[in-house]
Amino acid sequence: AFDAVLLGEAMMMLMADRPGPLELADAFLKRTAGAETNVAIGLARLGLRVGWSSRLGEDSMGRYLLAAMQREGIDCSRVARDPSRPTGFLFKGRVDDGSDPPVEYHRKGSAASAMGPQDLDPGWLASARHLHATGVFAALSPSTLALQEQCMKAMRDAGRTVSFDPNLRPSLWPSEERMRSTIDGLARLAHWVLPGLEEGRFLTGRERPEDVADYYLERGARAVVVKLGSKGAYFHGAGQGTASCAGHVPAFPVPAVVDTVGAGDGFAVGVISALLEGRDLQAAARRGAWIGARAVQVRGDTEGLPSRAELDSAGL
Ligand code: ATP
Repeated sequence: AFDAVLLGEAMMMLMADRPGPLELADAFLKRTAGAETNVAIGLARLGLRVGWSSRLGEDSMGRYLLAAMQREGIDCSRVARDPSRPTGFLFKGRVDDGSDPPVEYHRKGSAASAMGPQDLDPGWLASARHLHATGVFAALSPSTLALQEQCMKAMRDAGRTVSFDPNLRPSLWPSEERMRSTIDGLARLAHWVLPGLEEGRFLTGRERPEDVADYYLERGARAVVVKLGSKGAYFHGAGQGTASCAGHVPAFPVPAVVDTVGAGDGFAVGVISALLEGRDLQAAARRGAWIGARAVQVRGDTEGLPSRAELDSAGL
């Protein structure tokens, strides 16, 4: 039995050792990357029982990623190997000024992108309390989109909770409108919706965080948390037996932003773990903001994800 399950592509990330154009870097640090795998790692570090379903190539990158995920204590029994397709990878530039780093993806035709409805396993899904999904896996191919949609529906039907981070990746979509309508449709299948403010505006056509949240609450969400970067987050819960709640959590002060990538994934780790522990939405948003603030202070996507002991000593 799992607390949370996720489907998604893990990629090997090569991070340039010095600032400047990627082609001028001559040494790279090797790390793991992938929105869903970042969240899986974060939840596992907090002691949740996490299952991850994916496909990796039969190559050194696949072996590296599988070992890394297993080391985090994640159940990888649903990770298949594809001898005919490669594992995806990416290059990430180094930035020292807090701007978004350049990223170059090599994931087209990857093993994970060939996943599809044949990988649907309702029994595995129903063995978990919760499914976390993002717009990245849905963007990989028509078959991963179909699989993701079916998984979200199956979890709903099984009476489990589903969370969703839109994680818009325009370069993976044939058109902006296709991206908008598809991701909006997926978000409507989730109980907990976690958009960034710009994403929320794009998806809903509404301006203010309050109105973005209302859009999904009106369409059946139980909780919406809108991420506001260095301004923290806005949360609104629909109630579910208790009084509805809404408010703003400030960001935790950060001495220096090193690398903005991974903040949203860290935020999701905080919100999901807290809600699964029965905390209220404000406490969940606070925990998310704390982990998000840690994530922007490190270069990799997962170094900032805390252990349970670190979370406890911060009183979150
Ligand atoms: P990304 O997709 O780049 O990982 P996102 O757009 O999904 O991020 P952000 O709003 O950038 O999400 O960040 C998520 C959360 O992390 C914010 O709600 C905030 O609480 C925290 N955070 C982000 N940037 C900062 C910052 N500069 N200082 C403090 N906290 C931050």
